[in-house]
Parts: sequence; C-alpha cells; structure tokens
Amino acid sequence: MADFEIKDLRASVEGREILKGVSLAISRGEVHAVMGPNGSGKSTLSHTLMGHPGYTVDGGSVIFKGQNVLELEPDERARLGMFLAFQYPVVVPGISMANFLRTAMNSKRGYDGKDKSKQVTPKEFRGLLKGELEVLHMDDSFLPRYINDGFSGGEKKRAEILQMAMLKPEIAILDETDSGLDIDSIKFVAEAVNRMRGPELGILIITHYTRILEFIKPDFVHVLVDGKFVLSGGPEVAERLEKTGYAEWGKEETAQPEEVA
Ligand code: ADP
Ligand code: MG
Repeated sequence: MADFEIKDLRASVEGREILKGVSLAISRGEVHAVMGPNGSGKSTLSHTLMGHPGYTVDGGSVIFKGQNVLELEPDERARLGMFLAFQYPVVVPGISMANFLRTAMNSKRGYDGKDKSKQVTPKEFRGLLKGELEVLHMDDSFLPRYINDGFSGGEKKRAEILQMAMLKPEIAILDETDSGLDIDSIKFVAEAVNRMRGPELGILIITHYTRILEFIKPDFVHVLVDGKFVLSGGPEVAERLEKTGYAEWGKEETAQPEEVA
C-alpha cells in the first residue's frame, strides 16, 4: 500500500458533482503531476484533499498514516503532514509573515504554549528562514509584512513554497504554483522544491502547462478531464500533452507554456 491513497474520491461544489471517482496512490519519495484543462476539477481535488469547507465529499476515502483524512479538520491534516500551496493565496491583514510562519511551525510540532522543548527557538527559526529565503530569491523585507498583502503574483507563490519549506510536510500538494510566474520565478520555485525532494516527501504537482515539469521532473503524470483521470503514465504523458494539448479529450486548450508577460 502507498503512503497516501486516494480511492474513488467523489466531491461536489454547490450541489454540482465535480470529482467523479478519482483514485491515486502516492508514496513518499515520488513526484506525481496532475494535468488538466481549466475547470476539470484540479483545484476541487486539492481543496477536497485539504478539507476546504466549501467542497462536499460524496464518496471515497483518502488514507494517510492509517487514518481517513476526509474525517479530519484541515489543521489536523496539516499536523499529520499534509500541505497545500494554494492556486490563489489570500491576503491576511493583521498577521505578519514571520509571526504566521513561527506559529504554524510551533503548532505543527505540538507546542501548546507550555512545553518549551517543542518550541522553535528564535535562532533555529532565523537559521532555517535564511537558507530558504535565499533559494527562493526573497529578502527579509517580506517577514514583517502582512501575509500576501501587496505581494505580486510571483511573490505570493514563492511565499507558499516558503511555508512548505518551513513546515516540512510529508505530502505536499502544489496547485498551479507555476501559473502567472515569469520564467525566473518558476526556476526559483523549482529549485526550492527540488531541494526538498527526497525519500520523506511525496509531491503532487497540479498544473495546466508542461513547463514547470521541465524543471521538476515528475515520476508519474495523470491527466484529469471532467473530474476523472483519463490517462496515467510516466513523464512521456507530459511530452504527449505538450504536442497535442487536451484536444484528444474534446478540449481545445493547449498544454503548452503560456505566454510570459
Ligand atoms: P480547475 O482547478 O481544474 O481549473 P476547479 O476545480 O477550480 O477546476 O473547478 C471545477 C469546476 O467546479 C468548475 O466548473 C468551477 O466553475 C466549479 N467550481 C469550483 N469551485 C467553485 C465554487 N467555489 N463555487 C462554484 N463552482 C465552483
Ligand atoms: Mg485550479
């Protein structure tokens, strides 16, 4: 059995069935890519996996560490080792990036304000941050700012990956982290993700375009159309999409790189 098993997952949004039986097995150490045209259900999959309250689970299971995570609250899923980098990160006025990162790390380590041995020390926090900020080509000036407040599109996406690097999940879902990024930002993000790759981490990269997969080489590629996987295979699936797009499933959209502004 894989470390993270999605079985026949069905989910709906506002009464409309979107995921129509999705099964996927991810083990730590593997990188899976999910590709699909707009509206195929990619973000519905990421939100349902993480427990977004706007998405209703209609059936199926997601087993991780012996638990059906669909029965857990989002924070419990995060503590268990799951992480989601949002396609559209939200602004959270009033909470600084530094405060947020430190609180999230403490919470994941089980620090409840009492047992100081579980607390991330200021020195450890600064040391970890410094290295990750460098890889992502971000500077210290982000830290006192409110979460995503006034960040450019690329900065928001890099801030998501910074959270991932600090929280060290075991299953990470990246929902279109590449969309809206210029080529340099894609490279920085890919470099940071590649640094985290290893036997402890399973990654699910959700993307519309093949470009990020040139930098983060997937082990497996799955094509999602209308809430179902229509094709799964190795990296050659992405190469095929690069040439044909999603046309063979009746979708006109291209899977080739979007124009960079
Ligand atoms: P993708 O990420 O592949 O572009 P989504 O999962 O975001 O696709 O959307 C799948 C379908 O679900 C779309 O038709 C979209 O309009 C619908 N949908 C997603 N989220 C919502 C929502 N919050 N309210 C209403 N419809 C939604
Ligand atoms: Mg989406």
